[in-house]
Amino acid sequence: MNPLSCLESKLVGVLDTQALREYQTWWETWGCALSDTVDRAGTPLIRMHNRWGERVDELIMPEGYSTLVQESYRHGSVSRVIEQNDLLNSFALGYITSFYDPGLYCPHTVSLSTAVPLHKYGSPELRERFLTPMLLKDGDAWQGATWMTEAGGGSDIGSYVRTVAVSCSDHYLLTGEKYFCSNVGAELAVVAARPMGAPEGIRGLALFLVPRYRGDGSLNYFMRRMKEKIATRSVPTGEVELKESEGYLLGSAEMGVYLILEVLNCSRVANSIGSAALAHSAISEAERFAAKRIAFGKPLISQPLMRAQFERWKQTQDELFALAWSSVELLQNVWQQKPPYSDQYHLFRLVTHLAKYWTAEKAVQAAKWSMEVHGGQGVLSEFGIERLLREAMILAIWEGGSHRQMLDALEVLQKRRTHELLLDWMAPNSSQAELQDWRERIEQYLLQPLEDQEAQIETLMPPLAQWVGKTLQGRYTIRTESIA
Ligand SMILES: Cc1cc2nc3c(=O)[nH]c(=O)nc-3n(C[C@H](O)[C@H](O)[C@H](O)COP(=O)(O)OP(=O)(O)OC[C@H]3O[C@@H](n4cnc5c(N)ncnc54)[C@H](O)[C@@H]3O)c2cc1C
Repeated sequence: MNPLSCLESKLVGVLDTQALREYQTWWETWGCALSDTVDRAGTPLIRMHNRWGERVDELIMPEGYSTLVQESYRHGSVSRVIEQNDLLNSFALGYITSFYDPGLYCPHTVSLSTAVPLHKYGSPELRERFLTPMLLKDGDAWQGATWMTEAGGGSDIGSYVRTVAVSCSDHYLLTGEKYFCSNVGAELAVVAARPMGAPEGIRGLALFLVPRYRGDGSLNYFMRRMKEKIATRSVPTGEVELKESEGYLLGSAEMGVYLILEVLNCSRVANSIGSAALAHSAISEAERFAAKRIAFGKPLISQPLMRAQFERWKQTQDELFALAWSSVELLQNVWQQKPPYSDQYHLFRLVTHLAKYWTAEKAVQAAKWSMEVHGGQGVLSEFGIERLLREAMILAIWEGGSHRQMLDALEVLQKRRTHELLLDWMAPNSSQAELQDWRERIEQYLLQPLEDQEAQIETLMPPLAQWVGKTLQGRYTIRTESIA
């Protein structure tokens, strides 16, 4: 089943079918070949100086890359959200993108995660100057990026963000080094930095908008080197130096931590959509292969063991979609909120941590299983499965690895008792007995010493995430396909 058919079978009355069909057709006609070229080209080079010896920091990307990355903006992956309050079709575009190229969804995601805080917290002047060009649909849309991580580590940014921001009339000057910068080369980035004199730890961080070029047209940030990655080659990732770079504070410095988490949570929703789509793609590829491959006198797909596995994976695919799409729907409801947040926002956070964690874990397993279904062919690049496995490995790490998602979900349970919100929200799709069972299970869990709660978290989060996905399936129209 292609990605649009999957979306149409589950979501009724919300999709801009014409635009999505056009986008999917573009992928099948042009996008897949371009994406393959980009993956094979590997790590892009930086052309640091022009012939006059001036620093220019240009990325040398494979031909066609700009067309590949811009097509989603042309269909409104950012502008729909900002101009029409339509997250559903933006994430539906993301589902289609990720089905064909999960790494390419990264630039679209970080652009959205830049546009949203700019829209919510930027002054009218900032929005006019920087947001307007992000909404273009003519193939020249400005892109965004989200740079938090520094060399000490990405999970504990409160300890390791050393970039400082010094106030200078109507803006700030930022100095520091960012260690993992996806969509490097983007016209804009949102960057975590500590205003001079702000407290230590995560509460002292603020969010700044950093354009690629200064007001006088010179480079505002510098690319130090590119990261040679196993996958996601459709997004260039590098290291960046900020040298008294012009930055604009978004919101207030005191609220910075909340803005940073809003950025990350928006990207985590996209990561879970990307993971669900990747699992779908891996299962579809396995099905295609197993229908064609004959072993012991009949197609692999007709062998009892294979049939059983396919049935399980299709069930899992539906659960992953339900989990990921539920986080999209919750985000649609809360994305415009500012602190102090409503209960609905805290419910969104819990579901998003569960979705990011579980969909990414399962995407890796789906790709590995699909490789096994392909037998020896699975490890050959011409079958495309090894690429899916490489891409999946990254989905589980960026935007916060699986440990962090489980522990952050635990924190929302501990501090906000979000399980009560979750269980109320699940009630229309679940039996009273199941709800009561989970209520008691979580309450008991939270009575343990804090260290035990962390140590044992794998006894709680995987079954909880799976249950939520399985239960929420009922909210979407499921078309069950017969196997064989
Ligand atoms: C391809 C790629 C692109 C990226 N692009 C960007 C980007 O554009 N912007 C950006 O800001 N970052 C980016 N990152 C960084 C990414 O967000 C981090 O890799 C991620 O947050 C994890 O941080 P870390 O790699 O420093 O691992 P660490 O923080 O060092 O963590 C190592 C491991 O320990 C686990 N861990 C952490 N805390 C605990 C705990 N309390 N208990 C148990 N386990 C724990 C983590 O889950 C992880 O598995 C990118 C990463 C990759 C791989």
